[in-house]
Amino acid sequence: MRPEPLFPLFAPTTSLPGIGSRMAVLIERAAGGRVVDLLWHLPTGLIDRRYSPRVADAEPGRIATLTVRVETHLPGDGRRRPYRIRCADESGTIVLVFFHLRGDYLEKTFPVGAVRVVSGRVELFNETLQITHPDRVASPEEAAALQTVEPVHPLTAGLPPGVLRKAIAGAIARAPELPEWIDPAFLARRGWPSWRTALATAHAPQEEADLSPARPARARLAFDELLASQLALALLRQRQRRVAGRARIGDGSLRARVTAALPFSLTGAQQRATVEILADMAAPVRMLRLLQGDVGSGKTVVALLAMLAAVEAGGQAALMAPTELLARQHHARIAPLARAADLEVGLLTGREKGKAREATLARIADGGLRLVVGTHALFQEEVEFRDLGLAVIDEQHRFGVHQRLMLARKGDAVDVLVTTATPIPRTLLLTAYGDIDVSRLDEKPPGRRPVVTRAIPAERLEEVVAAIDRAVAGGAKVYWVCPVIEESETGDLAAAEARARHLDACFPGRVGLIHGRLKGPQRDAVMEAFVDGGTDILVATTVIEVGVDVPAASVMVIEHAERFGLAQLHQLRGRIGRGARASTCLLVYTAPLGETAKARIAILRETEDGFRIAEEDLRLRGGGEMLGTRQSGLPDFRLADLAAHADLLPAAQDDARLIVARDPTLAGQRGQALRTLLYLFERDAAIRYVRSG
Ligand code: ADP
Ligand code: MG
Repeated sequence: MRPEPLFPLFAPTTSLPGIGSRMAVLIERAAGGRVVDLLWHLPTGLIDRRYSPRVADAEPGRIATLTVRVETHLPGDGRRRPYRIRCADESGTIVLVFFHLRGDYLEKTFPVGAVRVVSGRVELFNETLQITHPDRVASPEEAAALQTVEPVHPLTAGLPPGVLRKAIAGAIARAPELPEWIDPAFLARRGWPSWRTALATAHAPQEEADLSPARPARARLAFDELLASQLALALLRQRQRRVAGRARIGDGSLRARVTAALPFSLTGAQQRATVEILADMAAPVRMLRLLQGDVGSGKTVVALLAMLAAVEAGGQAALMAPTELLARQHHARIAPLARAADLEVGLLTGREKGKAREATLARIADGGLRLVVGTHALFQEEVEFRDLGLAVIDEQHRFGVHQRLMLARKGDAVDVLVTTATPIPRTLLLTAYGDIDVSRLDEKPPGRRPVVTRAIPAERLEEVVAAIDRAVAGGAKVYWVCPVIEESETGDLAAAEARARHLDACFPGRVGLIHGRLKGPQRDAVMEAFVDGGTDILVATTVIEVGVDVPAASVMVIEHAERFGLAQLHQLRGRIGRGARASTCLLVYTAPLGETAKARIAILRETEDGFRIAEEDLRLRGGGEMLGTRQSGLPDFRLADLAAHADLLPAAQDDARLIVARDPTLAGQRGQALRTLLYLFERDAAIRYVRSG
């Protein structure tokens, strides 16, 4: 149960004074629906209203708060000429300018002869000082309240800044003092304030520098968030370890037969990764290992060898792919190899139906099928394994942590191998998994030819078509990618359809179109026609992004290349350059390109090294959204900025490990405080792991 002091923080924002349901809707859009969301909605800027010079001394361009006497109203003509009010103090005159405002309202607000405090940006216009639409107007008694620093928050259309500020102030007022969960020595060394003080300070910046993530208040809040996430992971991992793993040691017989049937020999990197994986499986702890390698680096074979080892050890193995298309492709490639060891490979996706499905399920349950490939259909209740030993999760970035756990629960101490082509930097891995083991395929299979990458403005599309004409005449297959950011964005889809029609006019009967809205069988038919049918040009939305393998494809055109991220472009490009043919990638862009888009294209032209590209991407995007974080299912942080707080992440991880080692049930005084921390950051699911142990 959530600790009582946190109750008010998890109440809806309508529980705050002055927030009605209409504003709550807007606040929800900007920050979130609960009081705690407002606490995490830190200011991104500030307006300093402390500058209060005499009128004559007011510097144009600055925000000033001035105390003036109202002298004359100069009504406008309702259209071109604005309404103007001349005001003055003993030093000089300033004009307040209003567009589209009613005179009677202004007369009431600024009665002639009255003293008013106005705050806004001072401008010099025709030698006259003026403020256009002062932000604030108050009576002289309220001057002090006005001469402050106002935090500026990310807003949403229709939400007045003042309302959000008041709501946040109300939320902070609600925040209780909480017991300290950070190690006191660490806290002192860093010079960080208590949680509540940090919160109040971070929300009340006094100068620009206070907005920096390095400021003690902000750093502390970021650390809290990182500690909560690392502690939750450490607790989960502790539980997984406690459920003792099983040693799975194969005799190598199946692997030997399949390896002998491979049309190639393993690269050094593939061999190293295989050894690492087999060692994990042989150890009596549960494996959680990530196999990272660029598109085309040969992860599938490594995964298959691990699966065979699980079978040799008497168990079953499952490979789960993110899409139906990929599951089928994996199945089509793995099944013939497994046959070399007299093993059948089952297939289970949403499309296997009726009798055939029941038969497959029955054979998975009685252990007759040792190897299964499928989609998330593998998670479903009805799927029961006789003894699942290894779960391989391919291209993990489409799966969440939750789904991964579901599959691991389908057996007794299941070993888990996750494969990904996203070169996630080490620090980011920590945030998603805590301590996961990593094997890297940093060497491409031999015989790959580099892909030549060129950038071409969209106006020269005819040249692209001509180039394709030549390539196709020479027997090449072509991918033509059109961006569909959301499959629901019908406009994007229409563009892909229009492109397919346009190309079909140039290459009649040889153009296919594939996108996420196509039903399974339709998609398969389109793919088959491209792999070994009459289709030479496949217009595709990004459904081809993950894993598809057509070695004859040697040309890729990417339209609106400027709309794709670096990681995505890299992954897309990885679809070609797999066969013996020289390959070309044409990035078609709409001019003018921004600096970042230019830099992205330059990097792609320069290198095909995924890790190098990941680093460059990190650098280009800076503290913002990092390479693949969205696709990789990595957690989103509200307070921590993984670039700016990079040094805090290892500290939080070390701390979490130490906590779990010393007080595995979080029973001590600090342990209790840490429980509150987990609830505060909604990682309390992890507390269940403590209990059930
Ligand atoms: P990934 O899943 O890492 O993108 P795949 O496992 O699909 O890569 O392998 C890409 C292609 O390379 C496949 O056609 C595969 O048969 C081939 N391949 C894998 N390993 C080797 C190797 N050692 N030598 C030559 N070709 C290989
Ligand atoms: Mg793959």
